[in-house]
Amino acid sequence: MHKIIAANWKMYKNRMEAATTAAEISAGLPGVLPEGREVVVFPPATAIECVAQAFRGQKALTVGAQNFYPAPEGAFTGEVSVDMLRDVGAEWVLAGHSERRHIFGESDEMVARKAVFALSHGMKTMLCIGETLEEREQGHLYVVLERQLTAFFSSKPDAMADEALTGRFVIAYEPVWAIGTGRVAGPGEVREAHGVTRALLEKFMGETGKKLPVLYGGSVKPDNAGALIALDNVDGLLVGGASLEAQSFLQIIGA
Ligand code: PEP
Repeated sequence: MHKIIAANWKMYKNRMEAATTAAEISAGLPGVLPEGREVVVFPPATAIECVAQAFRGQKALTVGAQNFYPAPEGAFTGEVSVDMLRDVGAEWVLAGHSERRHIFGESDEMVARKAVFALSHGMKTMLCIGETLEEREQGHLYVVLERQLTAFFSSKPDAMADEALTGRFVIAYEPVWAIGTGRVAGPGEVREAHGVTRALLEKFMGETGKKLPVLYGGSVKPDNAGALIALDNVDGLLVGGASLEAQSFLQIIGA
């Protein structure tokens, strides 16, 4: 399957810093990008436009937004719409990142509403799912992933055909205990969680569930990226800290 390497820059980089890193990624890409691999960078909202400009002309490089509000427009002080994000060059959005769920209190229902809204308004969507350490230790991996995916599939309107999601909807499995902690999930843990995610996608979508990319995220670094991306059902990587520096991210892209 086509693989996706994504960068989440979180609340780091002003416009100049973002443009510089984006230009370095763009310049280094031809030497490292394997066939059939695509790269998506999620900068802070204020830097989306300059990153999109730095990526212009590079088909494999696209830009996304880390957050948005699921309404076309309106009295939502402090929020940004998907049309506004598209206007500055975003083609993708993230939904359900663990920092949005746990710091900002976004519920499964809110995350599902955002993902459905973005997809129905023409945005490619990366839906993040994953269990906390406590949930894993209690043996609740399956239940948590099922609950998070059920929230999405039960709010998806019938008019949004499963097949129409191919190429526009991807899942990122990110165990909360591995995000920003330096603690990467081991191969057995990743294989198990990606196997569960794939089985759930097939349960909800039948054959189409086999075609959706499932990315792994959580303390991915240049020295573990190659082993992670080679695992069954790992169709890409979502990278936080190690994507902030172009050379480190380029090594991951080429891993
Ligand atoms: C993330 O922000 O999605 C992430 C996986 O962060 P890190 O790579 O820093 O763990």
